[in-house]
Amino acid sequence: MTDLSSFIAGLPKAELHVHHVGSASPRIVAELASRHPDSKVPTDPEALREYFTFTDFAHFIEVYLSVVDLVRTPEDVRLLTYEVARDMARQNIRYAELTITPYSSVRRGIDEYAFMEAIEDARKAAETELGVLLRWCFDIPGEAGLVSAEETARLALDRRPEGLVSFGLGGPEIGVPRPQFKPFFDRARAEGLRSVPHAGETTGPETVWDAVRLLGAERIGHGTSAARDPELLAYLADQRIALEVCPTSNIATRAVERLEDHPLRRMVDAGVLVTVNSDDPPMFGTDLNNEYAVAARLLDLDERGLGTLAKNAVEASFLDQAGKTRLAGEIDAYTERWIAG
Ligand SMILES: [Zn+2]
Repeated sequence: MTDLSSFIAGLPKAELHVHHVGSASPRIVAELASRHPDSKVPTDPEALREYFTFTDFAHFIEVYLSVVDLVRTPEDVRLLTYEVARDMARQNIRYAELTITPYSSVRRGIDEYAFMEAIEDARKAAETELGVLLRWCFDIPGEAGLVSAEETARLALDRRPEGLVSFGLGGPEIGVPRPQFKPFFDRARAEGLRSVPHAGETTGPETVWDAVRLLGAERIGHGTSAARDPELLAYLADQRIALEVCPTSNIATRAVERLEDHPLRRMVDAGVLVTVNSDDPPMFGTDLNNEYAVAARLLDLDERGLGTLAKNAVEASFLDQAGKTRLAGEIDAYTERWIAG
């Protein structure tokens, strides 16, 4: 390990854009697959590594859905959630807002009360046993249309679990215009949930404008194409609307051709509050530590710069003020200790 990567490994971090099922590492998938021997997902970690090597985006979706299909019972939900937190603890992630798509699980027949109980039970155990603070973002799977939006809003507002802080929108952007989701975001926001839609990952800056103007976005998932619109960058910077940038994911899905072309630097130069995140880490062969290393390369960051990046995520998070102050303080203390040698 180089000096900078050992620094990153020990740095206390917060992650704001990471998906629940998309965080299932080969270890977790093997465990889930062994509980459901009728699935075609391999249980051997070596075979799984191969299974997780994607030929193209369609193949990625196919594999992703086969993992979604392994989460069939409330026990599976609890295991997945707790084990994801264990993988986070190993990277010194101290706080994470995990994006969950409850519609997929409930539609597959998991009882909605049992689902909420399973994630909440895992959240409390992760906090006391692993020192990882989890919060939830419930997101609408955009490709499943307005029915899924209605159902996600109902689950978020009528079955609201204690750890739920925000309301999101994921899935493909092309052919799924954002304006149709305004009524659902209006309802969620009226009930105190924060707005964090994906936007500008695979479509242009107008989608980010829609997310801001119509969905009241307080942070943007990806926002990659915002870099093409200086007026939008200035607006995001001025309003302190943070971007949840996921560099490796952008390459894996071909949203950005090459890492050297990633607009991260332009976003930072425009004064936008930028955070880096892992999205679906095992599926994209990454983790948050690796994303920090990528950001260090793209932005020429040293230890203090990386500490600032980590604090950006704390600032942009929906953690309460006391929690923010505490975690930012830990980041500063760690950084100064490291520099002092
Ligand atoms: Zn995402």
